[in-house]
Amino acid sequence: MRLVASTGGKGGTGKSTFAVLYTLRLLREGKKVLLCDCDVECPNDHLLLGTNLHDGKPIYQDFPRLNAEKCISCGLCSKVCKENAIFWVKGKPPIIFEDLCSGCGACWIVCPQGAIEKEKKPAGEIFKTRISENLWLVTGISKPGISETGPIVREVKKRAIELARDIGADVLIVDTAPGTHCSVIQALLGCDKAYVVTEPTPLGSHDASLILELLRIMDVPSEIVLNKADAGDESVIRNIAERYGVQVTVRIPYSEELIRAYSEGKLDRVVDLL
Ligand code: SF4
Ligand code: SF4
Repeated sequence: MRLVASTGGKGGTGKSTFAVLYTLRLLREGKKVLLCDCDVECPNDHLLLGTNLHDGKPIYQDFPRLNAEKCISCGLCSKVCKENAIFWVKGKPPIIFEDLCSGCGACWIVCPQGAIEKEKKPAGEIFKTRISENLWLVTGISKPGISETGPIVREVKKRAIELARDIGADVLIVDTAPGTHCSVIQALLGCDKAYVVTEPTPLGSHDASLILELLRIMDVPSEIVLNKADAGDESVIRNIAERYGVQVTVRIPYSEELIRAYSEGKLDRVVDLL
């Protein structure tokens, strides 16, 4: 089974649309596909596929809880917290502000007294949807207010891989969030290839270079998908491609017919037009 990511440094370039179109193309080739929506703060692959999400199962994450009886008020936990989620006054036990906590675990690792215990709390939901005989969709959604979604993405992807193995999928497509942050890194880990979806604008080229640099560091082979290819200056993307030694392998033209088919939800028609 191959793991292929659809990603992009910038939001709004058509990353999710490409993930769904690529899925439909593979289905036409007779492949069994699992599409995993790892854009957990704003998943929308189900909307593109015209399906609803039902029967979500909770995803839990560890958060810190202070056991004041064990605490010796040394303040170490507050010093290591990068999120400034621990307020400490000399001689007093710390106060943990849950809203700021990312659940990174540094405080319970560093505490010499074991005074910070781990407590599992719901951090999101996972949905498994069978769309057709050869297509499954796994969707993760983070709870509003969760500041670090990397652990949720890790869990969603782990369960998607398990399901993909169970159903004998040929390809698992991972639709990442935009950007280069922790949750994107979690989604890209272990992928055999990544498609970087971008557009021929200065913003597109800047953000494409950020994600290509990340993919280079992670040693994930990548190719560029140029969306709205003829609507800007294509050379800005060709220059980036040359710098990172990658190919522009997919060009999606800016066509009224394509946009009309897309906005009417006729994705099969879009695949015909590409
Ligand atoms: S788990 Fe991490 S972010 Fe949360 S309070 Fe502890 S050190 Fe800070
Ligand atoms: S590191 Fe542990 S003992 Fe020290 S202040 Fe924090 S909770 Fe208390």
